[in-house]
Amino acid sequence: MRDRFGRSLTALRISVTDDCNLNCFYCHREGCLTSERAMTADDMGRIVKLAAEFGVRKVKLTGGEPLMRGDIVDIVSSIARAPISEISMTTNGTLLADVADELAEAGLARVNISLDTLDPKTYERITGKDLLDDAFAGIDAAVSAGLMPVKINMVVLAGINEGEIGQMVAYASQRGAILQLIELLQISGDGQNLSCYHRDLGDIERELQKQAVAVETRRHMNARKKYILRGGEVELVRPMHNSEFCMHCTRLRLTSDGYLKPCLMRNDNLVNVLSYSRAGALGKARAAFQKAIARREPYFKPAPLKRVNRRR
Ligand code: SAM
Repeated sequence: MRDRFGRSLTALRISVTDDCNLNCFYCHREGCLTSERAMTADDMGRIVKLAAEFGVRKVKLTGGEPLMRGDIVDIVSSIARAPISEISMTTNGTLLADVADELAEAGLARVNISLDTLDPKTYERITGKDLLDDAFAGIDAAVSAGLMPVKINMVVLAGINEGEIGQMVAYASQRGAILQLIELLQISGDGQNLSCYHRDLGDIERELQKQAVAVETRRHMNARKKYILRGGEVELVRPMHNSEFCMHCTRLRLTSDGYLKPCLMRNDNLVNVLSYSRAGALGKARAAFQKAIARREPYFKPAPLKRVNRRR
């Protein structure tokens, strides 16, 4: 189903919990306000089944930290019963080593693992925790469980990790992973001012362009650019500077307490779906999807063309 901007809906991003075992100072927490009412694995399976009726084919599990859910394997199994083509997860990887194989067996296809640095002190400065070795173990386990392509999400932070990009490209490519460089969005969950950490990725993008042997534009992934280098692959995520980013958004979100969320950046247009799907009120649950899709709109829009006053 298309929204009023002609954008189709193909992806659902589910926050399975708001809890996290790290405390990254810049984290936007998927734009979710903390809640008490977590969905069960069955709730998620039912909602994804409905989402598939509206065109959703890909589901990404996020949070909080999805692996904080003790029933994460059941969640994946429940969602895998819906007629969709891919389940993926974004995780900090620190709890992944023990569960990667089980997740793959349950139907998880691939993972994005958040890793901003290879340096233990910098890791602790960013996350507040001394768990870098666990994150490394999680990445290795993901590769050996075949959760491919493994993508490594690196948020580039001015004055903190911006000098590590070369090493991160090498680290990712040694493991057959793709490095995803993310420009910081200045919306931390705790309202902190992040402007001093913002690093414009414009010059990095130009450098990648020079070095790349090929560049791909991923139309259904917010028109993201993927740079194929001799020594690895790098994707860039720059929502604010790429006016096409939102125009190619194909995603709806589901909060951990069961609200459809049309946009990461907004909390004023959520639509409750959980109570209807739980009660078996499928007509109302479908209407909730229709309402949420109608509320989808690009957040970062192309700059309006300037008017030129012509004098005769
Ligand atoms: N705990 C999981 C993880 O670490 O991947 C899932 C949740 S986390 C919010 C999902 C992704 O959002 C991570 O890759 C993280 O780096 C990214 N992220 C968080 N806050 C951000 C911000 N302010 N700007 C850009 N990306 C951000």
